[in-house]
Amino acid sequence: MTTPILTQRRRLTALRAAALFDGTSGALIRDPLILIDGDTIVAVDSGVPAPEGADVTDLGGATLLPGLVDTHVHLAFDASPDPVGALAGRSDEETVEAMKNAARTALRGGITTVRDLGDRGYLSLGLRDTPGLPAIVAAGPPITTPRGHCHYLGGVAEPTAKGVRAAVREHAERGVDVIKIMASGGTLTPGTHQHLPQFTLEVLKAAVDEAHRHGLKVTAHAHAVGAIADAVAAGADGMEHVSFWTEDGVDAPAGLIRLIADRRTVVGLTLGMLPPPPGLAPPRELLARLPGIIANSQRMYEAGAHLVAGSDAGIAPVKPHDVLRYAPAMLHGQLGLSPAAALRTVTSAAAEVIGLGHRKGRIAPGFDADILAVDGDPVADLAALHRIRAVYAGGTAVPG
Ligand SMILES: [Zn+2]
Repeated sequence: MTTPILTQRRRLTALRAAALFDGTSGALIRDPLILIDGDTIVAVDSGVPAPEGADVTDLGGATLLPGLVDTHVHLAFDASPDPVGALAGRSDEETVEAMKNAARTALRGGITTVRDLGDRGYLSLGLRDTPGLPAIVAAGPPITTPRGHCHYLGGVAEPTAKGVRAAVREHAERGVDVIKIMASGGTLTPGTHQHLPQFTLEVLKAAVDEAHRHGLKVTAHAHAVGAIADAVAAGADGMEHVSFWTEDGVDAPAGLIRLIADRRTVVGLTLGMLPPPPGLAPPRELLARLPGIIANSQRMYEAGAHLVAGSDAGIAPVKPHDVLRYAPAMLHGQLGLSPAAALRTVTSAAAEVIGLGHRKGRIAPGFDADILAVDGDPVADLAALHRIRAVYAGGTAVPG
């Protein structure tokens, strides 16, 4: 028999500020008070005093938002001019350290949850639930073809139904949270082509079927029109990029855009980049296609497609790991979303898509106490997102 030890009841933390965006509503709550017990929000009020005995932090004129959720990052890529080469030169131990640094950069930048859609050797899985890092949803190495896009990350499968089923099973056994499959080529891999599919429809179907048998969702990297069409037809839950890339430009197939919207296939637009420094323009082949890609994104939005944003953080110097804060302004300025809708895209909608809609992306009782405080009103001016006053992850203040 042991005598129960009575411990003092944990003190509640109370956060005050001028306004609050709760992740879903278009209207700000004025004079908010968030009550936090440990790592969880227990109450959201406005215009009331903090309960007696709570530890109160008053953030003055700041607006509180849910911590941001990036649906597409690569912690293993270091946002240097040659992230693939840099990664190749690192041991696994060095890579893990670099990934932790990347994750801490994201957290300091207000991004409290990331979905890593391509690591090397399943290294991101070991970083999940690490104190001081954002919440991590991990795909492990993306499934690809021999010499296919990102083959060097270790996710190569024989491009047959049997081959991809075996690869999905291995990923499931390793404990990934989601399956990422490279349905087309990509810029980071010389010898692959963005305008060409990497798998046949039958093989993609087998991969999706096997993933769903294991209770895992699938998101397909898809630039090529054929790869987008096949990913939708195969029943992939989501797609990344969705640029409709052709050999010499960008296509705009109205029927396929309609189908994407009707099937509710999640479209992970690649948004958020730093203003390029003078003299450093995006690659020519991308620059020439950007107007077409933006126009297609707009068509998908107008067709009612299920859009979210992912930054692809890590793949270039203009995409450091805290770059997602630039995505809402692009959703607003280029696609015409209202600022509140743009903010929902990187909070509640993003959390929903990555399977954490019950815990992340909202400021509401029962949700994780992941909170971003910025100076000013981001619903009136999205640039306020860059004026970070404080970040809380699981109720703990993140050191600046
Ligand atoms: Zn990516």
